[in-house]
Formats: sequence, C-alpha cells, structure tokens
Amino acid sequence: MNPLSGSDPSADLPRSAPSVYGLFGHPVHHSWSPFIHGMFAKQTGQDMIYRLFESPPARFRSEVLTFLGSEGQGANITLPHKQAATELVNELTPRAQMADAVNTIVRRDGSLIGDNTDGAGLLTDLTSNLGLKWSAPRILLLGAGGAARGAIEPLLSLKPVKLVIANRTVTKASKLAAEFQDLGWVSGCEFSGLPDRSFDLIVNATSASLRGEVPLIPIGVVDSGTTCYDMAYGVGDTAFVAWAKRLGAGRAEQGWGMLVEQAAEAFELWRGVRPDTAPVLQVLQARAARVTDSPSSD
Ligand code: NDP
Repeated sequence: MNPLSGSDPSADLPRSAPSVYGLFGHPVHHSWSPFIHGMFAKQTGQDMIYRLFESPPARFRSEVLTFLGSEGQGANITLPHKQAATELVNELTPRAQMADAVNTIVRRDGSLIGDNTDGAGLLTDLTSNLGLKWSAPRILLLGAGGAARGAIEPLLSLKPVKLVIANRTVTKASKLAAEFQDLGWVSGCEFSGLPDRSFDLIVNATSASLRGEVPLIPIGVVDSGTTCYDMAYGVGDTAFVAWAKRLGAGRAEQGWGMLVEQAAEAFELWRGVRPDTAPVLQVLQARAARVTDSPSSD
C-alpha cells in the first residue's frame, strides 16, 4: 500500500495465477496433504494451491482427467485409486511400474506421467529421519496391498538376508513374493505361517490399524532388537505401535515421516525444488498430538 496515495500501485499490474494441484481419493476429508504442501509452498516461496477432491470410483477417471486437462498442474492419488491411476497416465516411471500403483501424476508437455513416491518416502524416513541402519537384516512386511507392493523394492535396497511378506489372504503374499524373486530372497506366507523367531524390521503395510486392529501374527517375531514401523499414523499410538511397545520392541514408529517424505518427493517433481521436511514433520506431529480426530489417509 502506498501510504501517500492510499492506493496500492501494484493493484493494476497483471498477476499470474497460482499453480493448482490436488489430491483425489475416497474419502479424503481427513487428509493432511493440503497442510503439508501449504507449508512446503510457503517455505520455498512457490505460488500454488492444493485442493482436495472427494472422488468415488465411478467418477474418478473423468474427474482426474478433467482437472489435469484444465487448471491442474499435477495430482496426488490416494485410496482406493492408486492402481486405477496406472491406467490413465501416458507413461509410468519405473518405480510406479514396479509398484503397479500411482500416487503422483505430473503434467509435462501435454503428457501425464505417473509416479509412485510412497516407497522412497518410507526409505527416507527409516534411514534419514529415524537414522536406522542394519547389516543384512531380517525383514517382515505385513500386507500385500498397494503400499506393501511399493515398499518391496526400497526394502530390498537395504540388502536383507531375508524378506518375508505375510498377508491375511495368503495367495496375494505368494504372488508378490514370486514377482520380486529375482531382486532378492523374498518369500510369502500367511500370518500363522510365520516362524516364531524375531525380525530386525517389521513394516506394517496392512490397513488394520485404521480399524484399531493388529494382524494376527506370532508374538515371537518381536524382541528388543526389533524395529516395528506402522505405515498408518494417527493421534497417539496406532494399534500396531501400541502392540509392538507392549511386546518390548526396540523401536516402534508410525508413518508420519513416510507421509511427509512421499509428499516432498511429489513436491519436487512438480516444482523442481526440494522442501526441508524436518520442520513440517515437527509441526505435524505436534498438531496431531493436539487434535482429537484421527487422520488416516495420505
Ligand atoms: P490396501 O487396501 O491396498 O491393502 C490393505 C492390506 O491390509 C491388505 O494386505 C489387506 O489384506 C490388509 N488388511 C486389511 N485389514 C486387515 C486386518 N484387519 N488384519 C490384517 N490385514 C488386514 O491398502 P494400502 O496398501 O494402500 O494401505 C495400507 C496402509 O498403509 C494403510 O493403513 C494406509 O493408510 C497406509 N499408507 C501410509 C502411507 C504413508 O505415507 N504413511 C502411504 C500409503 C499407505 P487382504 O489382502 O487379506 O485383504
């Protein structure tokens, strides 16, 4: 504001519209993504808007394509559409292909590129944020849905002596194990088929915590040297984190860091600048400790 004239001299100058991004899912009302991307944008000086789109399966395809064919510069995709999104992009990155799921779409030169940043987010959280290091670990991955599939290659990059995938529906675990066989020692089984022997790292990629449940696995898989990581996150301990603490796990963590890191990967793809995730994670965890309604969806 010009204090002499009382009017803003820049008011008539043309302003470029902010870039628009959005999250498509069903449901999405609990999502923290607008908050996270808002903080990233402020921190890096990016002029952008991030919206939520409540998009049921019957409308998903047309709504995303309409958005990306008009104002949308890019999109995030969450439950239950990550696999459906692989069908509507022009190109898949190798990691999206491997995961058979898309959580980030980039619009580039009139083409839609589908990527998957979940696995990278998990790996960054485990190794950088939580500072975990192993030598030839024994890893147990619980679940065989989209998030589990995207985590397999990043977990194999930790050079495990063994990666066991256990799932309620055993055929899905066996199928996943067979698909990734050539990348390392991977096996699949049902929960009751797990050996009563401890693992170094257990990643819960089931959605059981969202209903306050814990997969029915033998308690012998956890000991004081075990790190238990729940991809789910919420206010207070998730059911899996509480279970792991009761069993005396060395560490028990939930997926806030993965959430922020996968968002940072997406933000960098869209804006070409890497945000600093530490302050965002700090604010998010402090806020989550204060709110009463448990968020659960990325
Ligand atoms: P999917 O729906 O694709 O898969 C769900 C998996 O959970 C299946 O393996 C299913 O088994 C299993 N499952 C569901 N309920 C139970 C139960 N009561 N007991 C045991 N197993 C169960 O979901 P996603 O893979 O996309 O997501 C999984 C979790 O990861 C969710 O909690 C999600 O919020 C979280 N997530 C977190 C992210 C983050 O950034 N922190 C990112 C992505 C996901 P079955 O095959 O037998 O049905």
